[in-house]
Amino acid sequence: AKRRGKNQVVAFKINFLDIVSRRMQLEQALREALNEQELAIWFQPIIDAQKGCVIGLEALSRWRLSSEFIPPNEFISIAEASGMITKLGRQVFDKVGAALQELRIDYPQLQCNVNLSLRQFRDSDLTKDIIECIEKYHLPACALHLELTESMIAESETEILPTMQSLVGHGFKFHLDDFGTGYSSLERLKNLPFDTLKIDRSFVVPLRQDDHVMVKNIINIGRELGMNLIAEGVETEVEVHKLLQLGCHQIQGYYFARPMPLDELKIWLATTQPQ
Ligand code: C2E
Ligand code: CA
Ligand code: CA
Ligand code: CA
Repeated sequence: AKRRGKNQVVAFKINFLDIVSRRMQLEQALREALNEQELAIWFQPIIDAQKGCVIGLEALSRWRLSSEFIPPNEFISIAEASGMITKLGRQVFDKVGAALQELRIDYPQLQCNVNLSLRQFRDSDLTKDIIECIEKYHLPACALHLELTESMIAESETEILPTMQSLVGHGFKFHLDDFGTGYSSLERLKNLPFDTLKIDRSFVVPLRQDDHVMVKNIINIGRELGMNLIAEGVETEVEVHKLLQLGCHQIQGYYFARPMPLDELKIWLATTQPQ
């Protein structure tokens, strides 16, 4: 038994070292990728399922290292821990700004959501970076929506709030991402300048089994607070129908469209969205 115990410890250590060394290698590679501007932005449409038209996009970072796509959750966490997220975030704004300027020629109402991390509030002048972006690409503030996760708010509300308020003052809108996973109180949400709640995918999936208790409660909270609602990760027709019945018609998910590069998005828009 003793010997087996020892082997298990050894096996664990090797595994742990693998994880650490992968992370270190990825950190170095990410630094180079950012210097070379190698990260891409893919866009996932957000649909008004009642009207059948696109209302916006979410910008999602993509990193291809040799032939492998590194999952965003993995490289974003490395970028956050190492402080590179500020640089990554600036590149996201720049790419999104350029894409929107072009897309809004044919789709003047189109807006795009950008995901933000806490360190971008801490380590940089976020208001300045974002305003520089919209000025460079001649966009109105309403063309950019900013997503913050509920867990970020739960951890650092007082730190984030002043910058949020300054951005709201400039006309930017905020979406509360992963809503329902962070146990925010209604009272707290009332005092935060969010315009939209994004219902986390974990509450959408149970709709397949006809379990709509949670999603119904969340939709009611959103209504109570006078906010827009977007359901995320919608993959099936059943989910779409139930969300519409429950009063949530803004939908993002593989059922309508996957995240895609700008070239593909242009084709998707041209074939699905009558101008
Ligand atoms: P998120 O903001 O919650 O983004 C939604 C995730 O759900 C995306 O994963 C998207 O591809 C995926 N998704 C969309 N529709 C469906 C669906 O119908 N089914 C399923 N199973 N999944 C769906 P992705 O692209 O892997 O991004 C993961 C997370 O990485 C994002 O979660 C976001 O928190 C973070 N992230 C991505 N890009 C950026 C970025 O530029 N900056 C920051 N700070 N975070 C980012
Ligand atoms: Ca998001
Ligand atoms: Ca989300
Ligand atoms: Ca998420």
